[in-house]
Amino acid sequence: MGKSKNIERKINDVLNMFYGTDLKSASAIEVYNAVSKAVLGEKYEDKRRSDEVYFKGKVTYYFSIEFLMGRALGNNLINLALNDEVKKVLNGVDLKLEDVEEVELDAAFGNGGLGRLAACFLDSAATQNMPVMGYGIKYEEGLFKQEFKNGFQVEEGDNWNSVGEPWQIKVEKDQVEVKFSDLTVNAVPYDMYIMGYGTRNVNVLRLWESKALKKFDFNMFNEGCFDESMKGKVKGEHISRVLYPNDSREEGRILRIRQEYFFVSASLKDIIKRYIKYHGNDLKEFSKYVAIQLNDTHPVVAIPELIRILVDERNMDMDTSIAIAKETFAYTNHTIMAEALEKWECYLYGKLLPRIYQIIEVLNNKLVMELREKEVPEADINIMRIIQNGIIHMASLALYGGHAVNGVAKLHTKILKEDTLRPWYGAYPEKFQNKTNGISPRRWLKLCNEELAELITSQLHSESWLRDLSLLSELKPALIEEDFIKSFLTIKDKKKQQLAKYIYENEGVTINPKSMFIIQVKRIHEYKRQLLNALLVLDIYFKLKENPQIDATPMTFIFGGKAAPGYFRAKGIIKFINDIANLINNDEDVKGKLSLVFVKNYNVSYGERLFPAADLSVQISTAGKEASGTGNMKFMLNGTPTVGTFDGANIEIVEEAGEENNFIFGARVEELRSIAASYNPQNYYYNVEGLKRVIDTLIDGTFNDENTGMYREIYNSLLYGCDWQRPDVYFVLKDFEDYRRVINESKSVYQDKFKWGTMCVSNLIASSKFSSDRTVIEYCRDIWGVEPAQV
Ligand SMILES: *Cc1c(COP(=O)(O)O)cnc(C)c1O
Repeated sequence: MGKSKNIERKINDVLNMFYGTDLKSASAIEVYNAVSKAVLGEKYEDKRRSDEVYFKGKVTYYFSIEFLMGRALGNNLINLALNDEVKKVLNGVDLKLEDVEEVELDAAFGNGGLGRLAACFLDSAATQNMPVMGYGIKYEEGLFKQEFKNGFQVEEGDNWNSVGEPWQIKVEKDQVEVKFSDLTVNAVPYDMYIMGYGTRNVNVLRLWESKALKKFDFNMFNEGCFDESMKGKVKGEHISRVLYPNDSREEGRILRIRQEYFFVSASLKDIIKRYIKYHGNDLKEFSKYVAIQLNDTHPVVAIPELIRILVDERNMDMDTSIAIAKETFAYTNHTIMAEALEKWECYLYGKLLPRIYQIIEVLNNKLVMELREKEVPEADINIMRIIQNGIIHMASLALYGGHAVNGVAKLHTKILKEDTLRPWYGAYPEKFQNKTNGISPRRWLKLCNEELAELITSQLHSESWLRDLSLLSELKPALIEEDFIKSFLTIKDKKKQQLAKYIYENEGVTINPKSMFIIQVKRIHEYKRQLLNALLVLDIYFKLKENPQIDATPMTFIFGGKAAPGYFRAKGIIKFINDIANLINNDEDVKGKLSLVFVKNYNVSYGERLFPAADLSVQISTAGKEASGTGNMKFMLNGTPTVGTFDGANIEIVEEAGEENNFIFGARVEELRSIAASYNPQNYYYNVEGLKRVIDTLIDGTFNDENTGMYREIYNSLLYGCDWQRPDVYFVLKDFEDYRRVINESKSVYQDKFKWGTMCVSNLIASSKFSSDRTVIEYCRDIWGVEPAQV
């Protein structure tokens, strides 16, 4: 009782002071802000004490241009065990906690997997009392908001802070200057507290906002040049305006380079200030106390920036500085897709960051000398150079300037070693590691599926599994308990009903909650093969039309995901799926048996509704292309079998849960490698039953792409290719028949509800490997050399 009275008083204090109101008359937005601030206010002391224990020892700084945090309130209440108290307080004034949580907008400072991974790592590090701090950018606009008009994706701004940003604490005294050759800006830090689950430790995510040094030109304003007077201010502040500005034009590329250098330079200055405070002026022991993880190539300019600071500002010699950098940095590779390995023009770097460019040249020369000493063949040296033909290769810079590189699933790391980074593995085998990705069980089970979490807790008589997911293995005896499986199935039904209601309210589409929910949610990309799934749905539809009697199991296919604004083909795929949905959902003949919905604006909070409600998790990327995937893990943790290819972490999912509890299909990497040169999709087009019919809908007038040419372009890419690409590079046609086979198989297994439930629970029990707690502990042990430090 004391605890809830205390929190009630604090909520009222905030409402009195900042909103001129109180709990009885405040709006939902005001209550959301006040509850958040009240909770945050409780944690300052723990944060201060965490700093104290952390900064005395070695700390890891996680540099990432993306943090896909989602909402904070619900997760923080769970981690602090304040859920029940706050519920009680709100119920006292006839408010529901869920309604207050719904007010919060997702902090969507990220695209997808890579940014969400960073967010899960922070949650896990805090929960495991690990000294890990995040550094990134406080974007004004998050990832765009997705709408559909006539089935086409349209992008709208995402003004995520329009309901306030109570979780962000501006720490004005820690601002630093960041200098470009033509521009100096202030970097102003905003801290987000990351509260561990079941611990008092609080970790910090520090996000930088770019502020112009001069507010505006007073004299110019007085002269009547109002717009001109703001110019300096506006230019400096563009840096933290948006996530991934379009870089097809040079202005955009300059802005990207500025963003990357901006947050990295500010963060290093912050780290060095802190180092000096705790360990004195001599930076020789820097790497004894500092580990920096580079999440993909975006923050790699940190390597020459640290060297610059050590050499130019701390009077250290070049070789010592390079050695320190190598001991400090490590790099995570997230993809083998060539377009994602960043490259920048030397002349742009030379213009904006001349000193940094000089240091990159030094590193390039040293690399080449070292490789010649190792007697690496010249041909290999040429593809390993940091500078090639006037272009800086950021991955090479990371590989040379750090002591470790890791892939994010076993297969991915193997491909890096054998293929993508083969010469690097030959020259520096000791740098290579694997760290299979993971997800936070707090957000991806306890928060999004309270019912299932309660069932597990009551079976295990404790909540400690939420801090140690390996305890799930103790559920094994429950696999043969009829009651447990039945309770699981009851919960699944409930989550499906909740999702159906939400989809009706948000998308205006009615789906049958008793149908089988087959869900594919992720960014739209050709390699992820939403198109394969869409073509199968069409095939099922045509067969149902021909023979309405055949089908006993009603199915609902659910898609979600955003396409990059400039990715024409991905946008065509969205339009195609929306058109198919329109056809199917308006056809009385298939009503209740088959439906299709593309939910709009898939993000973390939508995911929290989708993963628990899935019957089947669709993970069908072309083998070898999905580095890991983490969506696959979220489904598994919520007890959902996977229909998937032998790719990324799917392989490890099946290793843990058994092939018999999942539906694996499709060509494997080795097969694709050996047939790639001779592959002709037309053989499949003409010979696989039903395939031509569904592909032809792209061009036979079944659907209308409003003269955008989208459909013809997709059709051509499948059958003919174009001057820069072979036909069907992602093997959609090749895998179609096998995909149809496993979907049919899953459908017949699904009819035996109990058997299905057993499969689901087998996946749940086997999911413990995919806790991001496990992943973070491995990074701490094998790469960072940091140890837990508890308040
Ligand atoms: C987990 C997650 C992803 C990553 O999904 P994949 O299927 O692994 O590509 C992307 N977006 C959001 C919002 C997520 O929560």
